[in-house]
Amino acid sequence: MAEKRDFYEVLGVSKDASADDIKKAYRKLARKYHPDLNKDNPEAAEKFKECSEAYSVLSDEQKRAQYDQFGMAAFENGGAGAGAGGFGGFEGFGGFGGGGMDDIFDMFFGGAGGRRSSQANKGPQRGSDLRFDLNLTFEEAAFGVEKEISLYRDETCDHCHGNGAEPGSKVETCPDCHGTGQIRVVQNTMLGQMQTVRPCPKCNGEGKIISDPCHECRGTGTVKKQKSLKVKVPAGVDDGSRLRVANEGAAGAKGGPNGDLYVYLFVKAHKFFERDGNDVYCEVPINIVQAALGAEVEVPTLDGKVVMKIPEGTQPGRVMRLRGKGIPHLRGSGRGDQMVRIKVVVPTKLTERQKASLRNFADVAKDNINPEEKSFLNKIKDMFK
Ligand SMILES: [Zn+2]
Ligand SMILES: [Zn+2]
Repeated sequence: MAEKRDFYEVLGVSKDASADDIKKAYRKLARKYHPDLNKDNPEAAEKFKECSEAYSVLSDEQKRAQYDQFGMAAFENGGAGAGAGGFGGFEGFGGFGGGGMDDIFDMFFGGAGGRRSSQANKGPQRGSDLRFDLNLTFEEAAFGVEKEISLYRDETCDHCHGNGAEPGSKVETCPDCHGTGQIRVVQNTMLGQMQTVRPCPKCNGEGKIISDPCHECRGTGTVKKQKSLKVKVPAGVDDGSRLRVANEGAAGAKGGPNGDLYVYLFVKAHKFFERDGNDVYCEVPINIVQAALGAEVEVPTLDGKVVMKIPEGTQPGRVMRLRGKGIPHLRGSGRGDQMVRIKVVVPTKLTERQKASLRNFADVAKDNINPEEKSFLNKIKDMFK
C-alpha cells in the first residue's frame, strides 16, 4: 500500500479550513472522481477512495482533532497505542466510510447508484429498496392483474458471483485484522486513553484483501442491468396503494441480502364509474315518462350489463343500489356495491304534437297534484296572505 497523503493535501484545503470549506472541497472532488462517472478508470477510483477517507476524518470534529494531534498514526494500524490493548473498557464507534457519506451520495446521484459505489469500501450490505410506478386501468385495480415490468437495477455480478474478486485471482484473509474486519485502537484523548473498535483500514473492514478486483464490476460485486419481472397486483387495490415485492430491489453488495421493490399504483379514471372505497358510483339518465311510470333500463356494471328496475314515481337524484357489483375487498371476500344515481332528463325541442299531449296531461292531472307539490303551494299561499 502506498504511503498515505496528508488529508488536508488530499482535499486541497488549508489546516485551518472551516467545516464548510472541507465539505465543499470534498463534494467537488467526489463529483469529479465518482466511479459512476469514471468507468474503467482505476486511478479515479483510487482518488475517490482517498478523498472519501480524508473527508470522513476531517468532517468529524473529534477525529480531525486527533488527526491534527497525532497525524496519520492516529488512524493507521500500528500507529498510536498499538500493542497497548487492555486499557479502559470503552468501545466507541467510528471509522472510515461511515456516517455522512451515503447521505451525500443520495443527494448527488439519487439512491441506488451512489450507495453502490460507497459499498466498495464495506463488507456485505443490503441492497437498496427500489420504487416503480405502475399505471393500472380501473378494471385492473378492481379485479387484479399480473403485469410484466422492466427495471434498471443492481444485479449480482455474474463474472465474480458477487464477491468482487476477478475469477482466478487471490483473495487473502486480511493479516491485520485476521478476517474480522475490525481493529482495536487505543487513542489518547482529553479524557485519557480510550480503546475503540474501528473498521480495519487495511482491508476497509472487509476482512479480506482482493488483489485483483473483478473487471466487470470494479470490485463492487454488483452491476446495473435491465431486468423484467412479473408483478401480481391483487384485486381491490386503489389509486395510491403500494405493493412490496420482497427481495426484488437492488442486489446486496458482497453477499448482502437484496433490497425490496415497492410498486406504487396509479389508477386511471374511468369514463363511467367513480370509486369510493369498495363502492362504485355511476349516473344513469332516464326520461320523465320512465321516471313517472317506472321502467326497466340497462345499466353497465364492472361485470357487464344488467337490467335494473326503475320503480314508478322515481324522483331525480334517487340513488339505487346494486348489491355486490362493486370492487372486491382487498385481501378478503365479498365486494362493495354499485350505486346508481338516477338523472331524470327533461325533454327539450318538443314537437307540437308532444306539447299538445303534455298540455293534455296537465289538464288531466289538475285534480291529482302530488302531496309534495300540494304542500309547497299551500306554503306559498300562507306567505302572501
Ligand atoms: Zn464482479
Ligand atoms: Zn483487515
